Amino acid sequence: MKISAPRGTSDILPEQIAAWQNIEQTSRTLFKLYNYSEIRTPVFEETGLFKRSLGETTEVVNKQLLEVKSQRVTNAAEDAQFALRPEGTAPVVRAYNQYDIGREVFLSKLFYIAPMFRGERPQKGRLRQFHQIGAEAIGRGANHPLLDAEMIALCIHLLKSFGVSDFKLRINSLGSAEDKKNFAAWLRSALDGKIAHLSDECKGQYERNVFRLLDSKDQACRDVIQGLDIGTRHLSDSGCAYFEQVKQSLDQLGVVYEVSPQLVRGLDYYTHTVFEVSYAGLGAQDALGAGGRYNGLIEQLDGGDRRFPEPVGAIGFALGIERILLALEAQGKQVVVKSSLDAFVIAGKPEFAADVLACVDLLRRQGIAADMDFGAGRPVKKQFEQANKLGAAFVLVLGEEEMKSGEVTIKDMATGAQARVSKDRLVEELKLRIVRA
Ligand code: AMP
Repeated sequence: MKISAPRGTSDILPEQIAAWQNIEQTSRTLFKLYNYSEIRTPVFEETGLFKRSLGETTEVVNKQLLEVKSQRVTNAAEDAQFALRPEGTAPVVRAYNQYDIGREVFLSKLFYIAPMFRGERPQKGRLRQFHQIGAEAIGRGANHPLLDAEMIALCIHLLKSFGVSDFKLRINSLGSAEDKKNFAAWLRSALDGKIAHLSDECKGQYERNVFRLLDSKDQACRDVIQGLDIGTRHLSDSGCAYFEQVKQSLDQLGVVYEVSPQLVRGLDYYTHTVFEVSYAGLGAQDALGAGGRYNGLIEQLDGGDRRFPEPVGAIGFALGIERILLALEAQGKQVVVKSSLDAFVIAGKPEFAADVLACVDLLRRQGIAADMDFGAGRPVKKQFEQANKLGAAFVLVLGEEEMKSGEVTIKDMATGAQARVSKDRLVEELKLRIVRA
C-alpha cells in the first residue's frame, strides 16, 4: 500500500517553497530591525514543561499534546515523559532559565521560526504539524508597557510586510496575577445560576478554568457570555494605568486595534496585555496569530533554583505561517516563483557530457547557477525542452563545432538571440548578459 504523509501534516513542495521562503526571509529581516536574535530549541521536551506552564486544564495540554512514546527517548532513570512541542514560549523560557541568560542580559529579544505539533482533529487551517513565527522578549528589562506596544507593533509590521491586509487586531488586559484571580471570581459569580442549562463540557470549564468559557464555540454558552457586561472592572488602578499606557503607545505608533473584554487567551500563563490578530476570510479558524504578557512564568518554571533580585517580565506572540498563506491566497496574493537557474549546458553529443559537467562546475564556482541533462546522450531537442521547463535564462551548447574551435554557443532563452564566444571569455560574457537580463 502506498504510504502518504500523516493526516494533519503537509509536505511543502518545491512549487510552494518560494512563498514560505518569502515569509521566512521577511521575518528575519524585520527581527533584525527590532534587534531580535534567533533561538532554536528541541522539537520535543519533557511533558511536565507544558503541563506546568500552559496549565493542566487547557485544551492544548489536556487534549492535544502529542506524546513521544518510544522507549528509546523515555528517560527511564528519571521516569520522564516527552511530548512534541505544541508551542514555542515554554521551551524558550526553559532555555532562558537553563542557561541563566537573564544574569548577563537585561532584556533578551528572541525569535523562532519552527514547526509545532498538536493532536487536533485536522481541518482547513488546523493541522497536527504547523509552523509558527514567534517572538519573546524576556528579562528584568521586560516590564515596561512600551514593550507591550512594541511587541504588538512588530506583530502587525510582520503581517503587513508579508502582504496581508484587512486583518483585525483585538487587545485586552487581564491585569496582574491578583487582578486575574479577581476576574475569575467575578466571572464565576456572574455566571452562577446561568450555567445550569449549558453543556457538560461548559460546566466542567466553569469549574476548572472559567476563562475558557469566554471563547467557547458552544452557541448557548456564547449567548450567555454575550449577555455579560465584562468590561475592565477586574483591573486594579495600577493594572488600569498599565493598560492605558499600552493603548496610548499603540496610538502613537499608529497601530489600529479594538479593545475586546472577552479576549483572555486559553493558556494559564498570561497576565496583563493579551492580543489576537484575525482574518475574517478564513472562516472558523480565523486567528493568524496571538500573544500576550506572561510575567511570572520565568520564576514558575525555574523550580526555585535561582533567586531573582528583580522581577523578570516577559511578553511574546506567535503567528501561524499556514494561516498567513491561506489569508494571502484568499486575497489573491500569491508569490510568483521565478527560476533561479542562470544557465543550462547542453551536450551536442553523448561523448561531450564530461566536458559539459566540467563547464557547469566552472560556472558554479563563478557564482552562476548552472545545471545539465544527465540523460546519457538525450537528443539536443530534449535537452532544450528540459532547459525550458527549468526556466533557465541561458542555454549553452557544446556541439561538435564548438568543441573543435574552443567555443561555446550562448542562447538567450528570453530573446532567442544567439552568439558564439570563446571558452576563455565564457564566464565574463555570461555574467554581462545575466546582469542585463
Ligand atoms: P495559539 O498558541 O494556539 O494561539 O497559536 C498561535 C497561532 O498559531 C494561531 O493564531 C494560528 O495562526 C496558529 N495555529 C495554532 N494552532 C494551529 C493548528 N493546529 N494548525 C495551524 N495553525 C495553528
